[in-house]
Amino acid sequence: MNTADANGALEGTLFVVAAPSGAGKSTLVNALLEREPDISLSISHTTRPPRPGEMYGRHYYFVERAAFEREISEGIFLEHAEVHGNLYGTSRTTVSDLLCQGKDVLLEIDWQGARQIRKSKPDCVSVFILPPSRVELERRLRGRGSDSAEVIERRLHNSREEISHAHEFDYIIVNDQFDDALADLQSIVHAVRQRAGLQWKRHENLIAELLA
Ligand code: 5GP
Repeated sequence: MNTADANGALEGTLFVVAAPSGAGKSTLVNALLEREPDISLSISHTTRPPRPGEMYGRHYYFVERAAFEREISEGIFLEHAEVHGNLYGTSRTTVSDLLCQGKDVLLEIDWQGARQIRKSKPDCVSVFILPPSRVELERRLRGRGSDSAEVIERRLHNSREEISHAHEFDYIIVNDQFDDALADLQSIVHAVRQRAGLQWKRHENLIAELLA
């Protein structure tokens, strides 16, 4: 639920989206962000090398492992985890600045990061995306064409671990038909925005008038 800060201003909602590699999470999230421009995507730090076409600051902040480990010790991450042999992390100040400005923020992270976020920000709303089948998951992973065979095998292997944590999330969406999955994701965002705690604050003048 949205919470008011010390000045009574409303904080944004923190959305967390996770999925095994190949479930179509990034495509879904990008389509959601096009339809819901008020949601800001948090750009993560990672030690993974960029894929062709990926840009520093747009897809990730690509950093060396030594620099990342220094940043962990400096406490700059709201959450961080090792995923498929690389480190990934979310900047604490970026997220809290946006939330304090009342903006909704979306984190595209793995189950380990989601678990850390749930602990520090219990008001977050978490969504897990499932592929429609194992065959389809493998087809999507191989079809991406930007990862080596070894990387694909590792991601396929790790998908079982990721999926085994889906029940820890608030919502689960099966991404079979893309448009249906997108509508499901959008409906979660819309429902969250109509929660009473937020609406009561947002419409305080209306409520005052109705109660007068
Ligand atoms: P990819 O290398 O395919 O971009 O991402 C691999 C995995 O790392 C995905 O499950 C993705 O959600 C996760 N990931 C990306 N950024 C972060 C982050 O900041 N924190 C955590 N915990 N996982 C992340």
